[in-house]
Amino acid sequence: AGLTLTLAACGQSANGVGDGASSGGGNAKGGLVGIAMPTKSSERWINDGNNMVKEFQAKGYKTDLQYGDNVVENQVSQIENMITKGAKLLVVAAIDGSSLTDVLQKAADAHIPVISYDRLIRGTKNVDYYATFDNYKVGVLQGSYIADKLGLKDGKGPFNVELFAGSPDDNNATFFFQGAMSVLKPYVDDKKLVVQSGQTNFNQVATLRWDGGVAQSRMDNLLSKSYTSARVDAVLSPYDGISIGILSSLKGVGYGSSGKALPIVTGQDAELASVKSVIAGEQTQTVYKDTRELAKVAVQMGDALLTGGKPEVNDTTQYNNGVKVVPAYLLQPVSVDKENYQKVLVDGGQYTADQLK
Ligand code: BGC
Repeated sequence: AGLTLTLAACGQSANGVGDGASSGGGNAKGGLVGIAMPTKSSERWINDGNNMVKEFQAKGYKTDLQYGDNVVENQVSQIENMITKGAKLLVVAAIDGSSLTDVLQKAADAHIPVISYDRLIRGTKNVDYYATFDNYKVGVLQGSYIADKLGLKDGKGPFNVELFAGSPDDNNATFFFQGAMSVLKPYVDDKKLVVQSGQTNFNQVATLRWDGGVAQSRMDNLLSKSYTSARVDAVLSPYDGISIGILSSLKGVGYGSSGKALPIVTGQDAELASVKSVIAGEQTQTVYKDTRELAKVAVQMGDALLTGGKPEVNDTTQYNNGVKVVPAYLLQPVSVDKENYQKVLVDGGQYTADQLK
């Protein structure tokens, strides 16, 4: 009987957490955690990766952190490698949320639980938990910022606005856009906001892979087609990298100089260059999401999964990935502009005052 027990125990540990997330009771403490991030072209993902490595290692885990360079095939083969190396847990911020079905089936076959990080992995049952921010709220913060600054609630207008959304293969992009439009659309319907280009549908305004250059070309087109005499008063931008592209386009046709003020331009992530731009009076707003906190949530979930505990969640309704509702923990995003960056970002320890000079 002793021998049988030993073999059973070996089998259990070799297979990680056994049945995956639902079984609990696993013991893979200290095992290898595979962390698949989308790209190093944006600071936030570099911070997310580093923060998770730090937190997982502090709990005694080994980590394998990989970046997919925004190429789906890279990410798939990186995850395959993690499985081969014997990872006990995968934490994945997908490049394309719907292209991981096959590789995550391999993870499930090897009994490896999966945490969807920041971006929802779609179209598979093989995703156990989701660590993210309140993505709809991000959009609401961007839309409300525009509405408040233009004084729309006080009946001011009409103003011209153009809309940008994120990557169509990222579930978050739809949430951001819907959140923003929940605030802006009533004003568009009332003609207090006018989209001169007529481009108001998500598919018309989406920006593949969140590419700032793509956004810049689109803004160039909008300006030359619809704004030779009209003025742009606000631009809804979902992400700082896109805002940078939009701002260069605007500056290229003279906004920001000789008495022609830049429009309100929103953003997201509080990336260093964009916070400096906010301080300099160019980009108007950004939405800060503390990636140190997000890393902690993911590590809390992962550690619970690997030690037979139960990950803490606070949302079990919003994030249906097409196959199931993925239980999620949502953190709160914060709107940042010239008025509060000091309090939120400097006092909050994200940047030192020196970094922002
Ligand atoms: C993230 C944003 C980020 C965007 C582009 C989204 O999935 O939630 O924080 O701005 O990707 O990297």
